Amino acid sequence: MPGEQIVVNDQILHDYVANIFLTAGSNDREARLVARHLVDANLRGHDSHGVGSIPVYIRNLSCGDLRPNEGLSVVTETDSLAVCDGNGGYGQVMAHDAMEIGIAKARRNGVALIGLRNSHHVGRIGHWSEQCAAEGLVSIHFVNVVSDPSVAPFGGAAARVGTNPFSVGIPRAGERPLILDFATSKLAVGKVRVAMNSGKPLPEGALLTADGTPTTDASVLFGQPKGILLPFGDHKGWGLSFVCEVLGAALIGGQTQKGPKRRNSTINCMLSIIVSPDHLGTAATLSPEIDEFVAWVRSGPNADVLLPGDVEAALTEERLARGVPIDPKSWADIVAAGRQVGAEPPSRLSRTAAGVAGL
Ligand code: NAD
Repeated sequence: MPGEQIVVNDQILHDYVANIFLTAGSNDREARLVARHLVDANLRGHDSHGVGSIPVYIRNLSCGDLRPNEGLSVVTETDSLAVCDGNGGYGQVMAHDAMEIGIAKARRNGVALIGLRNSHHVGRIGHWSEQCAAEGLVSIHFVNVVSDPSVAPFGGAAARVGTNPFSVGIPRAGERPLILDFATSKLAVGKVRVAMNSGKPLPEGALLTADGTPTTDASVLFGQPKGILLPFGDHKGWGLSFVCEVLGAALIGGQTQKGPKRRNSTINCMLSIIVSPDHLGTAATLSPEIDEFVAWVRSGPNADVLLPGDVEAALTEERLARGVPIDPKSWADIVAAGRQVGAEPPSRLSRTAAGVAGL
């Protein structure tokens, strides 16, 4: 449904989203962690993993597939590794707390390996890279998705896996961290949903109908029979997706995708490797070395080369200043989900220098 975007100030949006989750039964900390994560995803330009996820989360809550106020259980632990179970609770809390454990271990031992299994959707994986980078730590994250399979393996003609994301975060002295973060499918499912809600066609070559015909119609992914997404980079994206499934889940005792969807919720498992440059003895040289490398790749005709995280940093600056745009269909769905649990939308959506103003 094309139409004028609704633009919401990020702080007003955050408070509204936190109130939805509070009203839906979360404690204050959980409501705030989920709201911060979702609004940050919108600020970074990843609307697919932002507040548009609220209707799905509320649906999963109401059918008991998402469990509010769950705590993380540590299943296996040594000085430098931990495997945690998210108990089907909010991934925004489970991954946050798992990263806290990993950050403390990496600070003590130089490196930490953290497994998080059986968590509800952990959202935008770059958020977890950012959490580690804010502590001066490098991190690598392999994630699997157990849900309705949506992506065909390279060479296959049926959906067998999820969009299995991968992320790397690298802190940089005096600069924002480098944050590489993407789905291993050509498009994340949420991006297809946003395109459908906005009435926009998909780029060519990302989606097939169930019988294998290429299509740019986003609604095909949500129809019956369901369309099929393709991995990015042919065999290379498929290979990375495969190792996300095996390292992100099987290695840490999490479940892999082995059949059609059995529950409403999306379950994520994540393997995170967190490394301290201090312990490696490279804390002082890492940033200057990156700076020289970046100067080289940007020299000559490559002057416009973007680094991992540049797009998101520019969008964050813009959206903090101008507000978060949300398509009318997604906004209506969010408001309906909020009302379902008893949360009313804010009466005013933007702030001006003079205070809060109407639209
Ligand atoms: P994307 O295709 O937008 O790629 C983003 C990455 O590419 C970023 O690192 C960005 O800085 C970089 N980038 C973008 N444009 C660039 C350019 N012109 N030059 C250089 N680098 C550039 O991301 P996506 O695949 O649509 O993924 C969106 C989000 O979905 C991610 O945050 C991902 O973690 C999330 N996701 C989550 C799940 C889950 O189950 N939790 C599943 C899939 C995806």
